[in-house]
Amino acid sequence: MPTPLPDDWQRALVVAAHPDDIEYGIAAAVAIWTAAGKEVHYLLATRGEAGMAGVPPAEAAPLREDEERRSAAVVGVSEVEFLDHRDGVLVAGPELRRDLAGAIRRHRPDLVVTGYFGPTWTPPGASPGYLNSADHRALGQSVLDAVADAGNEWIFPELTEDPWSGVRYIAVSELHDPPHEVDVSDAVELAVASLAEHRRYLELLSDDPVEAQARQVVDMSTTTEDGRRRVGFRLYRG
Ligand SMILES: [Zn+2]
Repeated sequence: MPTPLPDDWQRALVVAAHPDDIEYGIAAAVAIWTAAGKEVHYLLATRGEAGMAGVPPAEAAPLREDEERRSAAVVGVSEVEFLDHRDGVLVAGPELRRDLAGAIRRHRPDLVVTGYFGPTWTPPGASPGYLNSADHRALGQSVLDAVADAGNEWIFPELTEDPWSGVRYIAVSELHDPPHEVDVSDAVELAVASLAEHRRYLELLSDDPVEAQARQVVDMSTTTEDGRRRVGFRLYRG
């Protein structure tokens, strides 16, 4: 059985590749945390400008940024930073790690949270599997590395922010047998409302009403075996 995520932290930085990634599950936990008095900030590596069929990136980028800020506000998050890497071509490497490390130094979190970045959404061994996106894989690995980089004064000497070694835990969303969980039973409606703020994006994905789509996603991304809703995580030491 998963154990509850540790509670001995005060400020979280949630890091994602694209607007809407956080709203596919993690936002429900964010709503629980902010209601409990924790401070949560969001950091997005891209503006998700390559994510809307038929909408050119120059038009999609500000629209998706705006939708992400609205989503964040629904679950009590007012600080949302965008690094402006190019959507679709994130590379796990020094450039991304440096920018993430700089942001970790600015936000000074004691918990860093990021999305599932395994190769497939389906359980290991399932065939055919559903592939996770290249950006998600690159971002997740780089977040783990950037936490160490943020505390090292020599790896990226060009960073102007003071080193930050205060990250106690890194929590990665875990879909399959998570060792830890957050009970989000009281945050389901907020999570649905948060995802529904990605209105233009979701309207392009399906003809179903946006609220119905959002509810279906939140149902899928939270486990419900005993009638309670939970979001799973795997922890690493900062
Ligand atoms: Zn994404």
